[in-house]
Amino acid sequence: MITIKSKEEIELMKEAGKVTAEILASLSDFIKPGMSTWEIDKYVEEEILRHGQLPAFKGYAGFPATVCASVNEVVVHGIPSKRKILREGDIVSIDMGTVWKGYYSDAARTYAVGTVSPEAAKLIETTERSFFEGLKFARAGNRLSDISHAIQVTCEAEGFSMIRDYVGHGIGTDMHEDPQIPNYGKPGHGPRLVPGMVIAVEPMVSAGSYEVEVLRDDWTARTIDRSLTAHYENTIVITEDEPYLTTLLK
Ligand code: MG
Repeated sequence: MITIKSKEEIELMKEAGKVTAEILASLSDFIKPGMSTWEIDKYVEEEILRHGQLPAFKGYAGFPATVCASVNEVVVHGIPSKRKILREGDIVSIDMGTVWKGYYSDAARTYAVGTVSPEAAKLIETTERSFFEGLKFARAGNRLSDISHAIQVTCEAEGFSMIRDYVGHGIGTDMHEDPQIPNYGKPGHGPRLVPGMVIAVEPMVSAGSYEVEVLRDDWTARTIDRSLTAHYENTIVITEDEPYLTTLLK
């Protein structure tokens, strides 16, 4: 069931999203070669609590940390670890969210660790750009798959492939609500977008094959061919007019 949020609910989601937006922006300077993914997790958790909010991911479905820290061939759900040290040239996606008065924010960015290869830089740039191509269709009256399709064609035009096993989602008083939002598909399908819908759109993109496997920790998802992957996500409010991104600094 897709829930439509009231003005008051959307205000709370904006407050949640603002904290996520600020923390993700600050990670651009924070993340350095030689750092463990556990250090990122600790920093993000402290920042969320300092803002008076709660980490959305910690304990969610049993996830043990505040962020998902997914390095290189890991697509999503990487578990932060003191043993996972970032090296120059790695790319790391950080997926995080907060809860404010029962309302969720959810967003992800992929960061270059030091200087990265041209291919890695292009993958990060394309993944982010595909989100904004999809966003152009996040308007009342359009169909959900109009967003999916725009994301897919943007990434595939660069020779990349869309991860299919993980999707975006509605968000509100739960992190994962209906509808599911694939990052591929023909336009003109799925529910019609209406003002008050809030959705997390999150392209996950592989430089090689889209096939993934989940490791024995039951969380870490990586590409089977070990291709590099990138992830970019924001929480989007559908309005009468321009969509509003709760998790991007204005
Ligand atoms: Mg999400």
